[in-house]
Amino acid sequence: MAGSPGHPRRPGSPGETAEEWDRLGAPPGLCRACRHAQLLASARSVFVRCGLADSDPRFARYPALPVSACDGHSPASSSR
Ligand code: SF4
Repeated sequence: MAGSPGHPRRPGSPGETAEEWDRLGAPPGLCRACRHAQLLASARSVFVRCGLADSDPRFARYPALPVSACDGHSPASSSR
């Protein structure tokens, strides 16, 4: 319920909303359609977390947006 500090959502996941992406402080760029991106949304803020950062130190856990070039970008499967 409300009060949860943030829950990750991948691009195209069922609970994801365009409004949450719109609440980011900057356009997400490539992260918007990347399978490694997780949207962390709370009542007060929204962040993009890069899941690839967990296993590869070349990637920032919270990338500076917009991301316009990224070696780790992998298109999310979209079934919308
Ligand atoms: S791999 Fe690159 S494009 Fe994908 S989420 Fe991480 S920073 Fe964004």
